[in-house]
Formats: sequence, C-alpha cells, structure tokens
Amino acid sequence: MQILLLNFLFLLIPFLGYFIFFDVSSYRHFNLIFSIFATISVICCMLFPIQLQSGFIFDLRYIPFIIIALYWGFKSALIPYLAINIYQLWIGGENIIESFLFSTVILIVMSLCNHKFLSLDIKYRILFSGTASFLSMVFYLFTLSFWAPFNHEFWILSIYVIGTYLLVMLILVSMIERLIANIREQKLIMQSDRFQIISELSASVAHEIRNPLTATHGFLQLLSQSKSISLQEKNYVDYSLQELKRAEKIVGDFLTFSRPQYENMKDSDLKEETEYAKNILMPYAHMYNVDIQIHFHNSLHKYFDRSQMQQCFINIYKNGIEAMKERGGTLEIEVFGQKQNILIKIKDSGIGMTDEQISALGKPYYSTKKQGTGLGMVMVYNAIHKAGGTIEVESKIGKGTTFMITFPV
Ligand code: ADP
Ligand code: MG
Repeated sequence: MQILLLNFLFLLIPFLGYFIFFDVSSYRHFNLIFSIFATISVICCMLFPIQLQSGFIFDLRYIPFIIIALYWGFKSALIPYLAINIYQLWIGGENIIESFLFSTVILIVMSLCNHKFLSLDIKYRILFSGTASFLSMVFYLFTLSFWAPFNHEFWILSIYVIGTYLLVMLILVSMIERLIANIREQKLIMQSDRFQIISELSASVAHEIRNPLTATHGFLQLLSQSKSISLQEKNYVDYSLQELKRAEKIVGDFLTFSRPQYENMKDSDLKEETEYAKNILMPYAHMYNVDIQIHFHNSLHKYFDRSQMQQCFINIYKNGIEAMKERGGTLEIEVFGQKQNILIKIKDSGIGMTDEQISALGKPYYSTKKQGTGLGMVMVYNAIHKAGGTIEVESKIGKGTTFMITFPV
C-alpha cells in the first residue's frame, strides 16, 4: 500500500509540476520538457515497483507513457519509450522481449489515437484514457499468461493490476483535465476583461475625437476654396485635409470595431466574408508571392456584424501574409461546421511566434513590425469576442502559425 501511494506520488509530482510551472496552451506538438517530466515519472516507477504477496512484481510505468502518447503524440512519447526499454535492458530479467514488444505496441496504438483523443470532449477523454489503460493491461496480462501459470494467484494479480491501472489513470487524467480547464478559464477571463476595457475606451475616445475632426475638416475645406490665399498656402491646407481624412478613417474604424451596428447584421455561413477578405488582399498577397486558398465546408449559419467579420479576417490574413513575406507560401483557410460550432482555421507557414509573443497578441500597440500599428489583433479579438466566439493560437518559430476561431451557433 505504501509503495502504491509512493508510486502515485511519482506520477503526480511531474504532472502537477509541469502543469503548474509551464504553459499548457498547446499539446499538439512535440514537447521536450513534458517528455522529460514523464520520463522521470517512468523511471521512478520502475525503480520502486510494487510487490504483491504472491511474489509478483509490477509497476505503473505505462501510465505516464500512455498519457504522453495520447496527449502529445508519437515524438513526445519516444523518450519515455526509450527510457523504459533501456532501463529494462540494463536490469535484465526474463521478460525483456515481452516488455519491448508490449511498449512498442502501446507506443504505436496510443500515438495513433492522439488526434482522435484530442478532439474528444473532456468526459470522453477521461473515459477513453481509462479504457486505454484497462485494455492495455488486459492485453499485457494476456501475453503474460503464456508464460505464467493460469492459477488462482494469477487471477488475483490480474484484478489487482488492472484495477490499479484503471483507478490511477482515471484519477490522474481527471486532474489533468481539471487543471487544463482551469488554466484556460483563467486566460479567458483575463482576455475578456482586457477587451471590455479596450472597447469601452476606444469607443468613447473615438467618439469624442470624431466631432472636432469633422468640424476642422469643414473649416479647412472652406479655407482651401478661399481666393485670398497663395498657392503655397493652399497646398498646406490640402495636405492638412489629406491627413485629416486619414485620421477620420482610423477613428471610423475604431468606432466600427467598438460596437456591432444593426444595419450590418447578417445571417451568414461566413463564405462571403472569408472570400471578401481574400479578394481584398489578393494584390497584397501577390506582391509577396503568397497564395491564398479557401476550403469551405460549412452549412451552419450565424448572425454577424458583416463588416466587422470581414475586417477581422482581413487583419488575420494580412498578418499571415506578412509573416510569409520572406519566402512566400500558402495561406490556408478552412471553414467547417463541427457539431454546433463554426470553425475557421487560418494557417500560414511564416516566421511564427514564441510563447511570449502569443500571449502578447491582442495587447494594444504590441507589434514587432517596423510599420506595425499593433491594433490589428486588438480588433480581431474584440470582434470575435463580441460575436461570442473564441480564438486559439498555435505557433512555432520558423514553422508558422495557425489561428483557430470557434463560433458557437
Ligand atoms: P501589426 O500587424 O500592425 O504589427 P497586429 O496586432 O496585427 O499588429 O499583430 C501584432 C503582432 O503579432 C505582429 O507584429 C506580429 O509580431 C504578431 N503576429 C500576428 N500574426 C502573426 C502571424 N500570423 N505570424 C507571426 N506573427 C504574427
Ligand atoms: Mg497586422
């Protein structure tokens, strides 16, 4: 019993440590740190195996192994896989080959389930991992039964092993899921607070500035028509008018983004909006050798502020094109319906972002570009948030960035 608790601790500490100290926002990619944490778990479990009264020995090494393969996929599971086999080789024992074959099967099967697993809801993920661990052990004991006698003790062992694996796995995965959900919720709350403040502020400032701008515009126009000013003076006035127009446009944009406007509200499947943005940006994309492709499979509709949605896509596409400036590439856009959600995936193969850069996205004036305003993403987050959607970002330096927008209908 003590050893069992100790083993549980071995599993718990690396997992909790990882989730508390590192960013868990994406678990689709190869993850070295988590891989190392899981390997530590595996090795500790193997160092302190659980001994049953009958003399049978087993340990919980496959639990972190299954978890990492399910959540992070093949590459991340490779390090614990090697650890299991090298360690097994080193200590020897009669079932080296068995352990090798078994871990290989687990590695392959669980990694194949990786994508399917991540697309499940929390409840089903917990159920899935429980079943995976249950079946793995049944399979393990089945292979073992060729060597071991099928007696009373073997049955006791089986029940004990399977029960422990099932229980520990269920507890662990439930905890992981709860932790991830909490972290996400926290981020969401922080984001929505930020947008609330930004949109209120921008609306009021934009509104206040618009009136004096309009007045100045009018007077300057009168002045430019005056016959008593010199040509040079008229030029100055015209420049001022030009700049004023620009300022009015920016303010206008800000107003559009601060509140949905009724005349713009449309019931839409987003086909027109995503394509509108593409058409607008075509010349810009050509300039940088970027191709824009849209794959559309959506029949769901939602009530949107059309011009906001269009601008939102323009801003994201534009960033994608700018990220691929150096080498060119393809901006892939996919719109599809899934259950009761419209999902929009916008993927570039550009410069990518670090985790810090990702978390700075949406902060006003955050920009890494010489001519950047750092307002594009503020508007994007703002508009999506207003429409009741969420946006997720996955990015790797040098590899590219994927934005995933989800709108519940
Ligand atoms: P701007 O484009 O004016 O810099 P944005 O708010 O549109 O402002 O974007 C803010 C920053 O986010 C950019 O400067 C860039 O560093 C980063 N960024 C946004 N989208 C991408 C992307 N697809 N790839 C890489 N970096 C991006
Ligand atoms: Mg931008």
